[in-house]
Formats: sequence, C-alpha cells, structure tokens
Amino acid sequence: MQKRVYMDHAATTYTKQEVLDEMLPYFKEIYGNPSSVHGFGREARKAVDLARERTAAALNASPEEIYFTSGGTEADNWAIKGVAWANKERGNHIITTSIEHHAVLHTCQYLEKMGFEVTYLPVDSYGLVYPEQVKEAITDKTILISVMFANNEIGTIEPIREIGQIARERGIYFHTDAVQAVGHIPVDVKEMNIDLLSLSAHKFYGPKGVGALYIRKGVKLHPFIHGGAQERNRRAGTENLAGIVGLGKAIELAVANLEESSKRLAAMRDRLISGVLNTIENVRLNGHPTKRLPGNANFSFEFIEGESLLLSLDMKGIAASSGSACTSGSLDPSHVLLAIGLPHEIAHGSLRLTLGDDNTDEDIDYVLEVLPDIVQRLREMSPLFAQNKGGKRYV
Ligand SMILES: *Cc1c(COP(=O)(O)O)cnc(C)c1O
Repeated sequence: MQKRVYMDHAATTYTKQEVLDEMLPYFKEIYGNPSSVHGFGREARKAVDLARERTAAALNASPEEIYFTSGGTEADNWAIKGVAWANKERGNHIITTSIEHHAVLHTCQYLEKMGFEVTYLPVDSYGLVYPEQVKEAITDKTILISVMFANNEIGTIEPIREIGQIARERGIYFHTDAVQAVGHIPVDVKEMNIDLLSLSAHKFYGPKGVGALYIRKGVKLHPFIHGGAQERNRRAGTENLAGIVGLGKAIELAVANLEESSKRLAAMRDRLISGVLNTIENVRLNGHPTKRLPGNANFSFEFIEGESLLLSLDMKGIAASSGSACTSGSLDPSHVLLAIGLPHEIAHGSLRLTLGDDNTDEDIDYVLEVLPDIVQRLREMSPLFAQNKGGKRYV
C-alpha cells in the first residue's frame, strides 16, 4: 500500500480525538443558543465561558479580553480595520511588514484605498523584522503596528516583545497575527506588550472555521460584524458553539504539551533539514536557522519548479506545499520569498514541509529517501539545469 505522509501542518491540522469528543455533544444534546435564558441556553453559555477561560489562560490574558471569531482571517481583519476606524481622528498611519499573511496585507491595502497610509517594512534575508526599523517608521500619525509572531511560509519567529515595547512606549496599538505561534511556541500577551492578537483553532489541532481575537482591556476598536449583542456587543452572530468548545479544548491541550511536543518536532525538523542539505546539491534553507517554528522546514531547489516537485511528492503519498500555495494558478512566486531577496527563479523552486504531532521518525526517513531522486529526475528534465551545469550557482 502507498505510504501517506502529511507534512502540511502550517496549512491545517487534523482535529484531535479528545477535541472532537468534547465537541460532539454540542451538536446533538447541548444545542441551546448561548443567548437563551432557559436551561438549554445556560448550558451552552457555560461551555462558551469555559472555552474563553481556557483560551485566556493559554495567553496569560483575562477571559473578558477574548472574543471568538470565525478564524484567523476574521481576527486579522477585525483588529486592523477596527483600530483604523476607531482611531482615525488620532492619525491615519499603519506600520506592518512585507511578509504578513494575506489576511493582514490585503486588509492594509484596502485601508490604503480608504485614505490610510501604510508602511510595509522590509525584512532581512532570514525574514527578520528589525525593531529599530519599526521605531524609525513611527510618525505622529501612527495608530497601529501589526507584525506577525511567526511566518507561515519560512517559519521565522519575530522579536515580538521588543516591537511591543516600542509600541507601548509610544502609546501606539500593537497587533500580532499569532496564528502560527499559538499552541506551538510560548505566547504571553502581558510579558510581550501585545494589545491585539489573532489565533485560529485549525492550526493547533482544533476545528476549522473558529478563532479568536485577544483585545487588551481599554483598547479602542470598532466592531467588525454588526447585529446581536453576542461577545459583549463587540462581535455579533450566534456563537459557533461546538467550534468554540473545540478551540478551548485544543488550546488547553496544545499549551499543556507545548514543551514536549516542540522539542520532538524540532529534533525531527533538524534531521530533515540536515538530511536535505547534505544529500542534495544546489539547495538552500529559507528562514532563520534557529529563530524558527519547531515544525517548519522550507527549501529552495535550483532549476526546479515547486509545482512539479509537489506533484511528484504527492505521487509518493507526501503532502507538502510550495511558495505559491495560496496563489496557485498565479505565476507569481510567494511575496515572502521575494521579500527575503530570492530571485524569481529560485523562489519558484521552493518547498515547505511542516511537521506535526502525527509525524514520526520513519516519515522523515521516507522523505529523505524519495526526495533526492525526485529532485534529480526533475533537474534532468530541466533545460536550465543542462545549460548551467558546472556554471555559477546562486545557492
Ligand atoms: C492560517 C493563517 C491565517 C488564516 O487563518 P484562518 O483561520 O485560516 O482564516 C492567518 N494568518 C496566518 C499566519 C496563518 O497561518
């Protein structure tokens, strides 16, 4: 039988059995509307409250500072548009980075059309944002700084505490898209000076379609979804009850297992990285060598199309992703790989393997066994490879 290896955990994870077990009763037995006053409603309300407490505990926040959303994308939209619209009398300038997820980038581009000014900070060749550059970009019109906690493509972890401190000292709101960080590396909103933080359950073994925005007490922002009085009048719509229950259980499990799980993943990741770098020529590791998510490996192979690499791996049962996962159909390589300075042709030959709790050492062995042959075969079919044989190499 064909082996199946899932190495695309940054795209989404499976839902853990313990999480699913807690969710199921909320479809069938405990299905009340949390806003209803009767017993059915009160039971549902209790479950939402527990999930809010678990989420707050995971971030070192208070339960009143947690607002459930439909996912990471909504949390990012809400944080940025909500602060922009509520603080436009104070200023119209937003600082973010060139490597953010599209949920942040496209929201900022929308606000530019609405009259806001946005600075997109550059990053270095590892994908690191420099706090000093954040400081220099601040003007007396700056109302928001939004920098992601860890990058979803190359895994680089940003200096969040330092950037948060700069924002705090200047009285500017600081938002971080922590969708790739929560449940994987330590996150503490108080210690890290964070005012707003986005998270999403399906990136830490919870269900899809549910997330949260942490809003520090006192932060001024407009609601994003208008309607009923749910979420203390700040996010309307009947709660995704089972989803919220799942998020609460998943975040509790992820944080309880964080140390052990990240140690295990990082060891597998490092073996994968050194295995690839040692057995294949003309390959580079993208992202920072040490300030990197425990499960992330991202490579660029010269003379290869990422898409062909993905298809060949898929035929071997390996699920991975390339630098253009979100824009397949488009010929543009990932904005993140371009931002770290890769030329177009190198960025095109990129491969992201993201490990998770279901991966084993045998999975790493399997990838290290099949990948070199695939790369070799694809290169032999590439006219560029033939032309450049023995020539100057970029990587
Ligand atoms: C997945 C992801 C999102 C979007 O979250 P959804 O819940 O899928 O909407 C936002 N930002 C980052 C960094 C992500 O990895």
